[in-house]
Order: sequence, then structure tokens, then C-alpha cells
Amino acid sequence: MEIKGQQVSEKSFDVLIVGGGGSGLRAALEISKSGLEVAVISKVFPTRSHTVAAQGGITCAIASADPDDDWRWHMFDTIKGSDYIGDQDAIEYMCSEGPEAVFELEHMGLPFSRFENGRIYQRPFGGQSKEFGEGGQAARTCAAADRTGHALLHTLYQANLKAGTKFLNEWFAVDLIEDSEGAIGGISCFDMETGEISIVRSSAVVLATGGAGQVYEQNTTSLICTGDGLGMVLRNGLPLQDMEMWQFHPTGLYGNGSLMTEGCRGEGGYLINSEGERFMPNYAPKAKDLASRDVVSRCIVQELIAGRGCGEKKDHVLLKIDHLGEEAIKSKLPEIREISMTFAGVDPIKDPIPVVPTCHYMMGGIPTNVNGQVLTTDVKGKDQIVQGLYSIGEAANVSVHGANRLGGNSLLDLVVFGRAAGRHIKQDIKSGHRSELSKGNIEKSIDVLRRLDSSKSGESVFDLKSDMQKTMQDYFGVYRNEKLMSQGIEKLKEIEERTKSLHLRDKSNQFNSERVEALEYINMLGIAKATAYAAYERKESRGAHAREDFPERDDEKWLSHSLYFLKDNSVAKRAVNFSPKTIDAFKPKARVY
Ligand SMILES: Cc1cc2nc3c(=O)[nH]c(=O)nc-3n(C[C@H](O)[C@H](O)[C@H](O)COP(=O)(O)OP(=O)(O)OC[C@H]3O[C@@H](n4cnc5c(N)ncnc54)[C@H](O)[C@@H]3O)c2cc1C
Repeated sequence: MEIKGQQVSEKSFDVLIVGGGGSGLRAALEISKSGLEVAVISKVFPTRSHTVAAQGGITCAIASADPDDDWRWHMFDTIKGSDYIGDQDAIEYMCSEGPEAVFELEHMGLPFSRFENGRIYQRPFGGQSKEFGEGGQAARTCAAADRTGHALLHTLYQANLKAGTKFLNEWFAVDLIEDSEGAIGGISCFDMETGEISIVRSSAVVLATGGAGQVYEQNTTSLICTGDGLGMVLRNGLPLQDMEMWQFHPTGLYGNGSLMTEGCRGEGGYLINSEGERFMPNYAPKAKDLASRDVVSRCIVQELIAGRGCGEKKDHVLLKIDHLGEEAIKSKLPEIREISMTFAGVDPIKDPIPVVPTCHYMMGGIPTNVNGQVLTTDVKGKDQIVQGLYSIGEAANVSVHGANRLGGNSLLDLVVFGRAAGRHIKQDIKSGHRSELSKGNIEKSIDVLRRLDSSKSGESVFDLKSDMQKTMQDYFGVYRNEKLMSQGIEKLKEIEERTKSLHLRDKSNQFNSERVEALEYINMLGIAKATAYAAYERKESRGAHAREDFPERDDEKWLSHSLYFLKDNSVAKRAVNFSPKTIDAFKPKARVY
């Protein structure tokens, strides 16, 4: 068809999944096996999705390291880790369904590491305990050496090929399109190889577009982690939830950002300052280096502020693993050794690795229920399901991670809720039933592409993006306060103003990476604003959100989710779920490790 002089092709599937990472592929598999026609659209070849970079493992009470392990202990740890704003119905679902979802992966052929007795290897990870926090450290994180995500993603990709899932690889999704009944009925997108624009219709659209770590200057994530699905949702007038909550991983490789998995500390590594002192026991006497991530990151920053940082600039600390021995490092942490030698010139068998807290994971995202159905609010502030739209994985906020995610819980989230969304879609939609998309909606959805292509001069996307990333790093980092954040908000307003004259120097159609970067940047700017306004509004410290001017948690006012709307930069509250189905709710307690 032709839209305002632009040639646009059309495609149609029963279900369209935007994103070929772990969550998208798990959902696709579930639906494909039922005989519905499923397509996965991905801006990179699926096995290059960020899931491939996951190292440490997938946390789940499969009772392999400890036969008495119990999913309820895992549930408690996750709720405590979330600083009590994780939804307890969703956490209960994830922890109780988890073992089945992990064994399914094993049966699909995921090459897990093994204990001597042949069972799946599990390592200790931060924030994991036995007996509801009273029984000491638990070993609950299932691992395939330090390449768990790689193993998981390749296993799921192969299973999808077998099940007949269709793939639109190196296609870029731009916007959601509503059908004539107001439900989400498709998307606009283009083939990056040719630049050809398409409209894809489907009865359900699943956003599995992953996180947005690129919003920060220093991060452990791939360049593709730009939160495109969140941008699409914001432009459609829908809210994002808990966007002030960003996880800073304590051990990003200094100067490079690559992740040094928590598995290093799980295997017995620990952090030292410039005086060679192991400092974590001073802050977290019980859990020490395996306190949860927000806690360890703040302790490192405290050490730096106290002048005990390492190196000339005293701006990082050291991760010591050499005492684990050459054999253990080579068999359990081979990737870590390789990254450290390649990017820092340090062989961890001999010397400690320089590390610093680095943006790692987006706890916030698109609000959903346990079926993955996207939620918004009606005029009275009550939850309302957005028909036809689902979200899973790091893009979604179901919410199992609340204000702080525990290590290994994301991979579990991907497979448990990917499967749950797949199951719901299978039952909910009828093959072949697709409503018409209105022409006006289609026009609107390709407007942004047309605008970018018509610019004659103006700001470069590279300058705008790096200014935004720097603003987020400097004004919305590990510690926050009102003065700093209001300055940050002013900076973002200036950047937004400049964005109006965003100009593409390259207007070609074949693999135009500048166009892709511009669209990603527009998505990230929306996310940056969501973070800024939600962080400014939340006047307390909880989980990853640490305010110098409000250092205490305030359950009276803020035991709730935040919802950000792009239209007027407003932030509303949404109730946290305290109604698990099979066990009494865990009441908020002081969080000590
Ligand atoms: C270095 C690193 C190590 C980690 N280690 C662990 C770990 O050990 N354990 C753990 O539990 N978690 C870990 N995490 C977190 C976890 O890996 C991620 O949260 C998770 O893999 C995200 O999966 P996903 O399916 O949501 O999305 P991703 O794997 O990020 O995939 C997103 C997909 O969306 C597609 N996409 C995005 N935008 C568009 C668009 N506009 N058009 C078309 N396609 C699009 C991409 O092509 C991609 O296929 C780690 C994260 C990092 C960065």
C-alpha cells in the first residue's frame, strides 16, 4: 500500500514477538508449539541479543546443591531484595513455577555445569538465604560455567527453529499501531538491510525488547540495550513503572564497563580497598561480599568517598579471586579471566581485577500482570488491561524485582514469564482473527521516519546521545538528591529542546545505522525522563534508589510503585501486591544483610 507517497508493505501473523532474547524466544516457543503462526522480529540476529552475555546463572530452588531447598525461601529472599515493592503474587508465581521452567531447559539440551553426582551445578549468589534469612547463605544459582545466558539463548533458538517459529532478523520495530477497536493490532517496522518499511498485523504483540542500560554513560550492557519497547509504549500514551530503580552492579570492569559476574564473589572472591583491606564485613557482617547489589555498590562508593579508592585517581576498588586457584578460575570463571586479560591487562590468577559500580539492569519497565498483559490505569487510577499487548523480560515490570533485583533472577523471570505469556496468548487468541488497522494510525506510526528523512540540518544524534548519557550518569547515579536531580531535569529539558532539530546526515536505505541510532536515542530520551521524574518524586531511599536528602525508607508514603506518563511528565502511585495465593504475605522489615 501507499501511505502519503511512501511505499509500505504488509505482513500478517497470529502473534508478533518484538525481541529475540531469552524472554521473546521462550514465549515464541510456547506459541509455535500450539500451531499458531508466530514471528519474532529482532534488530540483531537473535543469538546476539543481550541474554547471550549473561554470565553467572539462573537462580531457582531446584534443590540440587541442597536437597532441602524450598522455593518459599527463594520467594522471601526476592521480596527482601526488592525492598518490599516487588509484587508478591508475581514473585510467588516465579519462584514456584521456576523449577519446572529450568528442568524444561535442561531437557531441551541446555548444557548446565554439573555436580559430581550429575545434578545441575548451583553456586552461591548475593541475597540468597536458607530458612527465610535465618539459615545462612544458599547455593541456588544454576550455572553453565560463566556463560549461562549463552547456553540458554542458543538452546531456545534451536528449539524455536525446530518448532517452526518465523524470524524477521535485522528488522527494526518503530511503533505500535491500534486497530479499529482500539486494541493493539500491529506495529510499524523496517528491514534494516533494505530500508523497506512494513506494517505487521497480528492478534497479539509481545514486547520483549530488553533493558535500556545505554541510557547511562557507564554500563555493562550491549549497545542494542536501548529500551525501544518502552519508547513505543510511552508514545502510545501508556505508563512506565518504577523507572527510578536502576541496578548498579558493584563489579563492572574499571575503564571498560564489562561485567565481572557476581559468581566471582559467589565462588569465594572478595573486594579490597587501596589499603588491601577486605571492607565488606564492616558494612554487612553476615552476608559480607554477598550482600545484595545495591548494598555492595553503595559500600564501594562510601570507600571511594573516604579516600580508600585504588589507582592514581582513587576511583575504583579491587576484586580479588587469585586465592581460588588456577584450576577453579579456569573451570568456573573462564570468561571472566579472558575479559579481564583482554580489556584490563590483568590475569586474575595472579592479580586482583579493578572494578567500579556500573549501570547493569533496569528494574522498572512496562507494567504487566502475571500473564504478561500490559496494564495502564483508568481515570480513577484502577488497573486496566491494554488489549492485544503483552510484555515480558527486562522490558516488562511484572514486578518481581521491585527496587532491587537479585542476581540470577532475571534469567528466571525471562523463562517463567515468557512461558506464562505464551500460555495466555495460546488460549486467548483465535488463529486468523485480525481486525483492520485504521489508516490514520498507520500514518501516525511512520511519521517519525518521515520526519527524520526530511531534515536538512541540525543536531547530530551522537552529540545528543552522549550528552543525555552523561547527564544520567552525573545527576541520577548511585546517590541522588533534590538539588542534583533538579539540575539534571533542566539539562534533560535542554537536550529535549535540541532534539527537535535532530538531523540525519545519512539518508540512505541500506544498513543506515545513523537512522537506527536516532530512533533508539528518541526511545532512550523518553526513558531518561521517566527515570528523572520518578526519581525526583520518590522522596525516600529504597533498594537501588538512594537519596542523600531522604536516607530512610518511608513505608507510610512510598510502599508503592511509581507510574510515569510521558504526556505531562506526571508520576502517580500504584499499589504493590501483598496477596500471594498459597502463603501469607511477607510484611516489610528492616533490610539488613
Ligand atoms: C553483562 C550482563 C550479564 C548478565 N548476567 C546475568 C545473569 O547471570 N543472570 C541473570 O539472571 N541475569 C543476568 N543479566 C540480566 C539478563 O541477562 C537480562 O536482563 C536478560 O537477558 C534480558 O533478556 P530479554 O529477553 O528481556 O532481552 P534481550 O536479551 O536484551 O533481548 C532484546 C531483544 O529485543 C530486540 N529488540 C530490541 N529493540 C528492538 C527493535 N526496536 N526492533 C526489533 N527488535 C528489537 C533485540 O534485537 C533483542 O533480540 C545480565 C545482563 C548483562 C548485561
